Amino acid sequence: MSSQTLRVRNPATLESIGELPIASSADVAAATARARQAQVEWQAKSFKDRAKVLRHFRDLLIDEQDRLADIVTSETGKPRSDVFGNELFYVCDAIGFWTKAAEKWLKQRKIRPHLLKVKKVLSTYQPLGVVGIISPWNFPLVLTAGDAVPALMAGNAVIIKPSELTPFTALFVADLAQKTSLPNNLLQVVVGGAETGKALIDNVDMISFTGSVEVGKHVMRRAADRLIPISLELGGKDPMIVLKDADLERAANACVWGALMNCGQVCTSIERVYVEEQIYQIFVGKIVERVRRLRQGRSGDEVELGSMSSEEQLKKVIAQIDDAVMKGAKVLTGGRINASFPGFYYEPTVLVDVTHDMSIIQDETFGPVIPIMKVHNADEALKLANDSRYGLDAVVFSRDSAKAWQMAQRLHTGTVCINDGLVNYIIPEAPMGGVKDSGFSRRHGPEGIRKYCYQKTIVIDRFGMKSEMPWFPSSRKKTAQMRRMISLLWRSGWRNKLATPGGSLKKSHP
Ligand code: NAD
Repeated sequence: MSSQTLRVRNPATLESIGELPIASSADVAAATARARQAQVEWQAKSFKDRAKVLRHFRDLLIDEQDRLADIVTSETGKPRSDVFGNELFYVCDAIGFWTKAAEKWLKQRKIRPHLLKVKKVLSTYQPLGVVGIISPWNFPLVLTAGDAVPALMAGNAVIIKPSELTPFTALFVADLAQKTSLPNNLLQVVVGGAETGKALIDNVDMISFTGSVEVGKHVMRRAADRLIPISLELGGKDPMIVLKDADLERAANACVWGALMNCGQVCTSIERVYVEEQIYQIFVGKIVERVRRLRQGRSGDEVELGSMSSEEQLKKVIAQIDDAVMKGAKVLTGGRINASFPGFYYEPTVLVDVTHDMSIIQDETFGPVIPIMKVHNADEALKLANDSRYGLDAVVFSRDSAKAWQMAQRLHTGTVCINDGLVNYIIPEAPMGGVKDSGFSRRHGPEGIRKYCYQKTIVIDRFGMKSEMPWFPSSRKKTAQMRRMISLLWRSGWRNKLATPGGSLKKSHP
C-alpha cells in the first residue's frame, strides 16, 4: 500500500472531508489481478443472473439515497436536489435500461454469407476482461457507477479511478456493491490522481475515459503502447442558436437551465448563445430576468445553484471573464465571486458583446456563465457555432421545423437538440458523444455497451468435405477453374462472363 495520501475537502464550506491512501502502481496491478479472477465467475453468468444482482444493487442505492446525497454534495458542493434529480435518477434508470438492453444488443447473431453458403457463421460479443473507468468530478455518481453498469452487464470486471476531488462517492458505491452477490473484487475503486490513472492504463484491458481534451490525449498515447481499446468522452463548448421565430419563453428557460445546471459544470452545458438580431434584445432581457431570480446557497437548501467544485475551475472562469471584459464584453448580471459563502461560489453571470477572439468563446468554461452574441441571420449563427475545436452537443430553437432540421444537419457536433437542451444524456437508447476535440466514442445506444466487448466471429464447416478448392495441393486445373469462376461471378455482361480473359491457361502462361 502506498504511503501517500489524498486530502479531500468540501468546496462549499472548505472543511476537510477526509484523507485516503493513494493507490500505487503495485496496488493497481494487484487490484487488476483480483479483478481478473472475479471476472471469470461473472462472465459465466447469464444476462438474467447479472441483471438480478444489479437490480439488488439499485435497491441498496435507493435505501441509502440520503447517505449518498450527503457524500455527493459534500464532495461537489452541488445542491441536494441535483443528486436526486440528476445523479441518482440517472443511475437507477441506467440499471433498469442496461439490464434489459444488454442481451438485445450483445446477443449472438447468425450471419448468412453471400458467397460461402456452405459455411455456418456466428458473430458474438465477448467481454474484454477488466475495464478501467477514469472519471472527472462533475458527476461523481453518474460517471462512475453509471458507466460501470453497461461494462458489468457485458460480463467485465470494473476498476474505477474516480477524480481525486470526489473519491468518496465511488468508494461508497463499491462498498454497497459488495453487499450484493456480485463476486468479490468484481467492482473495485483505486484512489489517486494522474499517476494512479496511468497505472490503470498500464494494467487493464480497456479504458473508458471521461475528462478534458488534454488528459484524453495522454490517455490515448499511453493506451497505444499496449494497444488496448479506449473510449474518450471529452470536453465541449456547446452552442445554442435562437432564430427569430423561436418560442422565446421556452428558449430562455432552456438556456438558463442548460447553461447553469450544476453551476455550468456539465460537458454538454450551453456555453455560447447566438441570437438573431430581431429578437436579441427581448431574449437577453428574458435571460437576465431569469438568472437574477436564481437562488444560490448551501447544498441542503432549496436552491438552484451551489458552489463550484474546485478552486482551479473557479480561477479559470474568473480568468475567462476578465479576458472577455478586457476585450470589450459587458457583464449584465453576476460577474463576481459570491462572498456570502466561504467556498467556491461564483454568481451566475450573463455576458454580452462577446466575440470569437475571447477565451470565453473559444475554450471550455466549466462555470455559471452565459455569453450571448447577436447575429444577422441563421447562416452567420451556423458559421460561428461551427467555429470551434469542440463538437459535442448543439441546440437550435425555431418554430420552423424544416429549417431547424437543416441547421441540425449542418452543425458539426455529435448530438443536436431542437427546441430542447441538456436532454441527450438521459435517453440511453440514443448514442451520445462528440466529434473533433470532444472525442470519438459513444456512450449509450448499442455502441455504449459494445465498446466494452470484442467481437468474435465463429465459422463452422457444414458438410465435412475432405478438401476445399483453395487448399493444397495447387494445380493448373484448379487455377483455371478459379479464373473461370472470377469471370462468371464478376465480369459485366453475360457474353463477357463466358469468355475467359487471355484465352486458355496454356496460351496465357506458355
Ligand atoms: P481531467 O481530464 O483533468 O481529469 C479526468 C480524470 O483523469 C481524473 O480522474 C484525473 O485524475 C485523471 N487523470 C489526470 N491525468 C491523467 C493521466 N495522465 N493519465 C490517466 N488519468 C489521468 O478532467 P476533470 O477536470 O476531472 O473533468 C472536467 C472535464 O471532463 C471537462 O473537460 C468536461 O467537459 C469533461 N467531461 C466530459 C464528459 C463527456 O461525456 N464528454 C462528461 C463529463 C465531463
